[in-house]
Order: sequence, then structure tokens, then C-alpha cells
Amino acid sequence: MKLAIIGTGYVGLPTGTGFAELGFDVVCADKDKNKIDKLNQGELTLFEEGLKEIFIRNLKSNRLKFTTDIKNAVKGADVVMLAVGTPQHAITKEADLSYIYAAAEELAPHLEGYTVIATKSTVPVGTGDEIEKIIRTANQTADFDTVSIPEFLREGFAIYDFFHPDRIVIGTNSDKARKVMEELYQPFADKTTILWMNRRSAETVKYASNAFLAMKIHYINEMADFCEKSGADINEVAKGMGLDSRIGRKFLNAGPGYGGSCFPKDTNAMAQMGKKWGAELNLIETVIAKNDERKAKMAQRVIYALKGNTSGKIAVLGLAFKGGTDDCRESPAIEIVQEMLKYSSNICVYDPKAQENAAMILKNRVQYASGIKEACENASAVVILTEWAEFGNIDLTNLKKIMTTPCIIDLRNMLDKNKALSEGFEYQCIGFANV
Ligand code: NAD
Repeated sequence: MKLAIIGTGYVGLPTGTGFAELGFDVVCADKDKNKIDKLNQGELTLFEEGLKEIFIRNLKSNRLKFTTDIKNAVKGADVVMLAVGTPQHAITKEADLSYIYAAAEELAPHLEGYTVIATKSTVPVGTGDEIEKIIRTANQTADFDTVSIPEFLREGFAIYDFFHPDRIVIGTNSDKARKVMEELYQPFADKTTILWMNRRSAETVKYASNAFLAMKIHYINEMADFCEKSGADINEVAKGMGLDSRIGRKFLNAGPGYGGSCFPKDTNAMAQMGKKWGAELNLIETVIAKNDERKAKMAQRVIYALKGNTSGKIAVLGLAFKGGTDDCRESPAIEIVQEMLKYSSNICVYDPKAQENAAMILKNRVQYASGIKEACENASAVVILTEWAEFGNIDLTNLKKIMTTPCIIDLRNMLDKNKALSEGFEYQCIGFANV
């Protein structure tokens, strides 16, 4: 079975590599020549735990190929997966479908034999119908079906999630397409639930899931604000809530607000879909507005915590939108650093994986350190913005020795506050009335 993947980013690359590892013949296509050249030379273009080894293995065995030529990729493919970006439209806040539609138009003339066009990109309800129309207009004799196969992988765990999905959702009403997709997903048949549904339901599942998770994050952040006023401790509260199996422990970490390449754009797209279809989505709209407010407030909170001491070196630990990834898209950390730059020109940043991507945004307005020690040496404050495990393991005794003033602002609640206070740090965190 031959699989073509259009778009070789955070979804396309791990997905293509995963299917090659399962024994399928995979060609990944991308418009970005630089990306494809690197991949063909065995160089990864993004960081994902566990990706490198299987990428190299399948590249060498020729089961995994990369090209900029869509025609070559699509020719003879049984399934063409669309994994191009669907960013937020700058004005309407809807999902910008121009990449999806351009890819559909471009691939249409090259289809050979019966082909399933499977949309992995997150797209609004009804997009499958539009893709179908575009392909039909461009190629009136094409034999194809369009299915929705939303992606639920978590950045940072993309490879694990590919091989161990909680569920696989496939939206199609075509028996012929179902047969092809059953063959493609056969390796998962005994491992997880494969949910078959109509295409519009499948398109909705993805948005409904992401909006729910964003809401859960916002909920715990709101509780954290309450704890700060009432004398409770959000870490204890979250633990108490999370052990209730109806609630669950995940997504109950208070922080500076959600970000990343998915939640902000998907919640906005969902809110716009609500308007389009005449179904009010008040809860989601409130979450979006309050989360935006929170990110701005967090930046102010850092500035306030510095108590005017902005001439000394400030160490920032973490730039990615969350731990485990090099992705800085809509990262709260980046927004906070940008706000801090209005008050300080002496900021030194460190992130184990996201430094290169962050540098494309922050440029030379900050200094870049190669490790925690270099970032924190002679700093008057340390600000933790991303939950990388290594930040939670910082040796506080040594940290205090290398800083000029013992001050930590921990917006991810990574450190043990009692330990930090007993070491003599001024320690600010989230969801606890700071002393
Ligand atoms: P990305 O920006 O990392 O990758 C998209 C790639 O598509 C880019 O490399 C771009 O050059 C390429 N591209 C654009 N137009 C093209 C065309 N016509 N032909 C060939 N290549 C083209 O995006 P991503 O993060 O992988 O997201 C892709 C989709 O998957 C989005 O809809 C996103 O919402 C969804 N999604 C993302 C995640 C995630 O964690 N990143 C998770 C689930 C779903």
C-alpha cells in the first residue's frame, strides 16, 4: 500500500515516519525545499522524542521518501493524507484553509486509480465537502473519496501517540473508502478503538476535544487565582480534584495560560464556527478572552515581582509553549519575554530544544545561554516559563550561590515552594498566596 503525505511538519513527519515503520511505502511531500533537502540528508527538521531513530531506519530502508514534487508523491498512492497547516486567519479568526485548498487543487490532476484523500489537518465542519468539490472540478474523471481522520497527537509525545493512540476517529460514509482505511489502520485494530462516523462528526470531534482541553486549563487557572486570594494552594487543590476519576489529573497544572500551535487557533475557529452555524458557544468565547487576558497579566506579574530591579540580569528558563517540544508558536513564554523586553535589556534565555525557533522571533534582543548555569550566573532573578523536567531538578543551594539576588518567579510551579523558601529565595509561583 502506498501512502502520500502532503505537508511534512509536526504532524506529517511523525505520521509518515510511523507508517513507514509499520511497513507502508510512504512519500512525504512539502513545498519547503529547505526542509525536504535536510530530511533527504537524514537531518530532522523538528524535535520529537524517539523520532530520530525510526526516521533514519526507514529513510535508509527506502520505505520513507521526501520530495517537493506533489505529482511524484501522489502518483499511484492509495491514500493521500493532507497534513498542511490550517493557521488562524489574521482578520476573521477562522481557520485559514488556503493551504488545504491549494494542496487539493495541486494534487487533483495526478491521482491514479481509486484514491482516498484523508484530511489529517484540523479543518472546520464541511471542509471535506469543499475538498471534494475542488478535486472534482480539477479532475472530472478522478476516482476518489474524501475522508476525515483528525489527528490527536501531542507535540513532545508524537511518536508515542502515533503507536499508542487513545482512539482513531475516521469520518466517511463510503464503504470503498472504509475498506482502504481499514487496511491502513489494520496494525492498530487490536490496540485501540477505531471509531467510524460521518465526516462532519469527525471534523467536529477534533475541535470539540481541543476546546474542552483549553477550557480545563483555563478552569484550573481561574481556580489558581481564587487560591491566591483565599489562602488555598492550587497544587493541593488540583491533586484533590484530579484523583476523582470523573475529572482526571491531566490538564490541571496551573500556569500562564494555554498557547501552542493548536489550542489558540482551534478555540477561535470553533467560536467562529458557532457563529457561522448559528449555535452560540459562549463558554468557548469566554475562555478565549480570559486566556488572552491571562497571558498579558502574567507578563505584568513578572515585571511587578522584579520590584523595579530591571537593570540586573534576568534569567528566563523555557521558551517553548510547553515542555517536550521545540515549538514556539503562540508560546506564552515568548509573549512574556517580549513584554519583559519593554522594561529590561538584560535578559538571558535558555531552552533545551526551542532556542533556534525562539531566536527567529526574539532575534538579538536577548542573550542565549547553553544551559541553566550559564543563564542563571549573576542573575538577579530567574523566571521559569516552560515545564521542562530539568528545571524542576535545579539544585537550589548551588543556584543561590551563583545568583546576585535569590529571586525565583516560577510560572509553572516546577519547584518545591517550601524548599525554595527555606533556601532563602524570594519565591513567587501560581495559585498560592506568595509571602
Ligand atoms: P506545520 O506548519 O508544522 O506543517 C505544515 C507543513 O505543510 C509545512 O511544512 C508547510 O511547508 C507544508 N505545506 C503547506 N502547504 C503545502 C502544500 N500545498 N504542499 C505541500 N506542503 C505544504 O503544521 P502542523 O503543526 O504539522 O499542523 C498541520 C495540521 O495538523 C494543522 O491543521 C494542525 O492544526 C493539525 N494538528 C497539529 C497538531 C500539532 O500538535 N502540531 C496536532 C493535531 C493536529
